[in-house]
Amino acid sequence: MSSAPRPAVSVVAPCFNEQDALPEFLRRVCAVLDGIGGTSEVVLVDDGSRDRTWDVMAEAAARDPRIVAVRLMRNHGHQLALTAGLSVCRGERILIIDADLQDPPELLVDMMKMIDEGADVVYGQRRQRDGESLFKRATAAAFYRLIGRLTDVQIPPDAGDFRLITRRVLDLLLAMPERHRFIRGMVAWIGGRQVPLVYDRHARVAGESKYPLAKMVRFAADAITSFSVVPLMASMTIGWIMAGLGFAFFLYSIVGWINGHTLPGWTSLMAAVGLLGGMQFLMLGIIGAYLGRLYDQSKGRPLFMIRDIVGGQK
Ligand code: UDP
Ligand code: MG
Repeated sequence: MSSAPRPAVSVVAPCFNEQDALPEFLRRVCAVLDGIGGTSEVVLVDDGSRDRTWDVMAEAAARDPRIVAVRLMRNHGHQLALTAGLSVCRGERILIIDADLQDPPELLVDMMKMIDEGADVVYGQRRQRDGESLFKRATAAAFYRLIGRLTDVQIPPDAGDFRLITRRVLDLLLAMPERHRFIRGMVAWIGGRQVPLVYDRHARVAGESKYPLAKMVRFAADAITSFSVVPLMASMTIGWIMAGLGFAFFLYSIVGWINGHTLPGWTSLMAAVGLLGGMQFLMLGIIGAYLGRLYDQSKGRPLFMIRDIVGGQK
């Protein structure tokens, strides 16, 4: 670790195949930092990109001493790439931002003011989302509603990871060893004074979303299993209901038998077996989802692996 004084602000951006967005991103971020004045750094994390992202960021780091380029061994996913950047950065205040300029870096000025006034976290809350499909907006809305109902942690709706946090909050965040990281939820869990800054989300400057449906589903599953055991508890509720129905069915058969009816058994039997079998698989799946995460956690592997770091005054 360096003993040099901390920069006042670190900007941390995970980048996956962002060669086309990066130059414009750096131009705008550096302009904002110049405007604010004081010491700063920009930490870019190449999350195993397959395009020229690393070359672009390494060249930028060679040119500008403020820029630090970090390359991971392979693609680790958005949340872990961000975690890598957060553990490398050294600033007193840390701006978390995507490299695609969907979130305007110019808001840093207002966010700094709000921290000056005593906030621990200033999170961007989206009023509008330009250039995103109806499907993306609808699934995002449904996801935030669902997670809001499943957990007691106050996770603000319509807020991404775009936020300015203090060093104190960052150190607490980095002290959490969990692998399946839902960072916006973890920051909310930390508490302190967290205030929203409402803004309009823009379309990407270049490239396309790196969140295909499969990644979105995994992200949602990580968020829910990290912050709620309601699905596990739901298995119990459903179990009780099924047991009640089973018992009613049992009574019905006995009464029928006493009254001398032969039951028209096949249909009801198959219905019961099918229903119960389906339910059991569902419950096992839910238990499996939690168990799998427990297993991953118990291996204690590093969260991310850095291959190179270029630039910065160390
Ligand atoms: N990203 C990453 N690794 C991944 C996927 C995405 O580092 O595996 C980065 C990406 O380069 C961007 C940020 O995470 O800076 C958010 O991704 P994206 O803009 O594709 O998500 P969206 O805004 O569509 O939800
Ligand atoms: Mg984006």
